[in-house]
Amino acid sequence: MKCLSLALAVALVAAASPPGGNLPKVDSSVRPGDDFYRYVNGAWLESTEIPADRSSMSDSAVLSEQADQRTREIIQETAQNRNATADARKIADFYNAFMDEAKIEKLGLEPIAAQLREIASISDRRALSRVLGSQLRADVDVLNNTDLDTDKLLGLWVAQDLDDPGQYTAFLLQGGLGMPDRDYYLDDSPATAAIRAKYTPHLAKVLGLAGIKDADAKAARIFELEKRMATVHATRVESFDVQKANNHWSRKDFDKRAPGLDWQEYFAAAGLGGQGNFIVWHPTAVTGLSALVASQPLETWKDYLTLRVIEHASPYLPKAFVDERFEFYGKTLNGTPKPRDRWKRGIAVTNIALGDAVGKLYTARYFAPAEKARAEAMVHNLIAAFSRRIDQLDWMQPATKSKAKAKLAVLKIGVGYPDRWIDYSALDIRAGDALGNALRAEQFETRRSLAKLGKPVDRSEWVMTPQTVNAVNLPVLNAMNFPAAILQPPYFDPNRPGVMDYGSMGAIIGHEISHSFDDQGAQFDSTGKLNNWWKPEDFAHFKEASQKLAKQYDQYRPFPDLALNGQQVLSENIADLAGIAVAYDAWQLSLNGKAAPVVDGFSGDQQFFISFEQSWRDKTREPALRQQVITDGHAPDRYRAATVRNVDAWYQAFDVKPGDKLHLSPDQRVRIW
Ligand SMILES: [Zn+2]
Repeated sequence: MKCLSLALAVALVAAASPPGGNLPKVDSSVRPGDDFYRYVNGAWLESTEIPADRSSMSDSAVLSEQADQRTREIIQETAQNRNATADARKIADFYNAFMDEAKIEKLGLEPIAAQLREIASISDRRALSRVLGSQLRADVDVLNNTDLDTDKLLGLWVAQDLDDPGQYTAFLLQGGLGMPDRDYYLDDSPATAAIRAKYTPHLAKVLGLAGIKDADAKAARIFELEKRMATVHATRVESFDVQKANNHWSRKDFDKRAPGLDWQEYFAAAGLGGQGNFIVWHPTAVTGLSALVASQPLETWKDYLTLRVIEHASPYLPKAFVDERFEFYGKTLNGTPKPRDRWKRGIAVTNIALGDAVGKLYTARYFAPAEKARAEAMVHNLIAAFSRRIDQLDWMQPATKSKAKAKLAVLKIGVGYPDRWIDYSALDIRAGDALGNALRAEQFETRRSLAKLGKPVDRSEWVMTPQTVNAVNLPVLNAMNFPAAILQPPYFDPNRPGVMDYGSMGAIIGHEISHSFDDQGAQFDSTGKLNNWWKPEDFAHFKEASQKLAKQYDQYRPFPDLALNGQQVLSENIADLAGIAVAYDAWQLSLNGKAAPVVDGFSGDQQFFISFEQSWRDKTREPALRQQVITDGHAPDRYRAATVRNVDAWYQAFDVKPGDKLHLSPDQRVRIW
């Protein structure tokens, strides 16, 4: 489970210098107990505008921009360097091919011509199944990056078996939609209906640009097919329920339980012909999608696949396709007025294709060994504080406590960058072949995943690149990644009082640690096995407190017609709650009994909570915010910032009293870890 939501983490921003790491100018016209978010962030909210090429603005966005600028410089220097390593050459060739718009215009649809011909030649369900199978990619990661979305019929994730953590297995997830979630097809709210109304015309436009006849009628049929797919899709809340997802299917089960698709052809074409066992994360959807392969007209499937291949390729196709893609996915879905500069998109796709190769060059230049050591020390302080917290829990019995501590003891912590880098020698990157490079990179990643099947599990592997501004807990591996790009100001700054680091980066580290103990993590034991290690009474207490937190978040309404779904964001909120509590403890421990210095009239406790609140400052455009509420496991940042309402020390620090708008009586405050 990662720390920041995808929308914020992957988005890029116009040039700006990193924000300062010190105390903000608070808005003293607001009482902290009435609106702490505005009290701390009022000045920032007043003065910050979301750049035209972005759907949101936050500190992490500013850092992402900085990471992009740095990566661009590295690539430009590499392009001039005759002695560059093979990996560095690949980075430069990949990026430069993407930037060569003249060449891309000239090539037109030629780079996908072979794929389109293959689809056109489909003459029966068997051939259809083969093409669908050949498209399967390792493009989802449900438990680590909480990345559930694929535009292919199914998504593949190769990870530790939930029942046998010594082995890798193949997970299959639902897929196939062009919009972000089933709700976009099925929900009747005016905001969703307005987006839906623009989707079919978008599909028609894409087909038209590709010179395909009867584009309007075909687009309408494609929409109907996707709507049928959406109907069999699981909801987000169902998708996050591991107990419902741990479905072991043998190869034969697919024929029996999900007839329609020719599974023999499908798996053979996917490179999974020899795989005997799978975990089917979304069994109802796999059954439903497979049935649609048999029941829906072959021609509709061919139109659908044609459309999907073009859409998938469109970032690498001529400008008309790029613009149309932005029109729907940027403007309509996220409310972003302007596309990002091409070079920023170039960095983003290079990071997807060759992330570790970029990360190796990036960290050599931008992550000092002293900061790595300082971050590792902080992580260890947080783990020690978490361990003490377990000792002091009054509701948990000793047997459960010792299991929890056993789990804590085996956490594998990665700081800055991985111990080993991905070997890209088998990835063929060619100058002047933007789309071919991207498709081969996807294939390379899929083969790398498939090659893990049957091999021992590597707990040192990372799922984020070092240049990513985020952090992640890998619940099945009992591991955590803290990439270099988040370990810098304003989250982590050697030149300011330690309390500020604990309030921001400390809470993020605590958040990641506690994912091992959130409503999902609590279901995995210290070996990563899906195994309830709790005493029943303790687990009942944990569940009850969790539900109280879910209900607390159900109350928040970003829009009159749209409330948060407390269950959907529960894991992240448990992690936020534990993160702030354990960061506070760790900071206290770091004082070694000395009093915290007062700065600008603020006590140490006040500085801690101000730093926490500041780290969640954010502005997001309405359509993007709606999309986050519908699809994301993370609540919008201002509600994550409201975690302080459950922390007793915050009430004391700011003299928050009954009658203040944010006040919760002690029995309403949720205490879990
Ligand atoms: Zn998280």
